[in-house]
Amino acid sequence: MPDGVSILMYHQVGAFAPMRAHRAVYCHHRRFAAQMAYLHRLRYPVLRLDDAIAGLRGERPLPARSVVLTFDDGYENFYQYALPVLARYGFPAMVYVLAARLGQSAAWLGVDGRATPPLMSAARLRELRRAGIDVGSHGLTHRRLAAIDRAQAGNEIAHSKDRLEQLLGEPVEHFCYPYGSYDDAVTDMVAAAGYRSAVTCDRASAFAGADLLRLPRKAISYGDSLLGVAWKLHLKRHPKR
Ligand SMILES: [Zn+2]
Repeated sequence: MPDGVSILMYHQVGAFAPMRAHRAVYCHHRRFAAQMAYLHRLRYPVLRLDDAIAGLRGERPLPARSVVLTFDDGYENFYQYALPVLARYGFPAMVYVLAARLGQSAAWLGVDGRATPPLMSAARLRELRRAGIDVGSHGLTHRRLAAIDRAQAGNEIAHSKDRLEQLLGEPVEHFCYPYGSYDDAVTDMVAAAGYRSAVTCDRASAFAGADLLRLPRKAISYGDSLLGVAWKLHLKRHPKR
């Protein structure tokens, strides 16, 4: 049986003191560098999301042990810490950004008393595109789409696409549900807006024939050693932690 694609989910990459809460959304940059070196050394095929989707759709062969790297929210620390490591190995990546918060800060983290780090600017996104990094939409402002008014959710989904397309001058075809919040009505709106895929926070590998609007991912957590990462790569499904 083919082992599917591991779509890895990262948020912030940087220098963080050890923490107890919210560990799934922080990765120390030294661990990140070690993880990418590991993927390189063991020759994991690291694919662009577009190529993984073509494989899931049966349009091209899907190499065994395929990995896709995704980064949510569009933090400036992606540029500072993750991009140089990705460039070292020539790894592609998908960054999901908030179209109405570019160049601002991650204000929504403040409600938990967490730091609100800067988000990448429009100019930075254009620079990323020139460096071959893919950009997808994470909505406008980071809302729980299944929990808010439908019209607002539709606005987040469709207008973020329009704004990013204007900014980048190319189609933006991939979406990421903030907080992993979605339901059937939300996925319908994502499809109607013209996106080809959407990723969730549901934790599993993606297999051939997968529902492209409900793609599962695997969160790499602050506490994950290389052994933990290897375990996640090989596990088809794993329970929430
Ligand atoms: Zn997010």
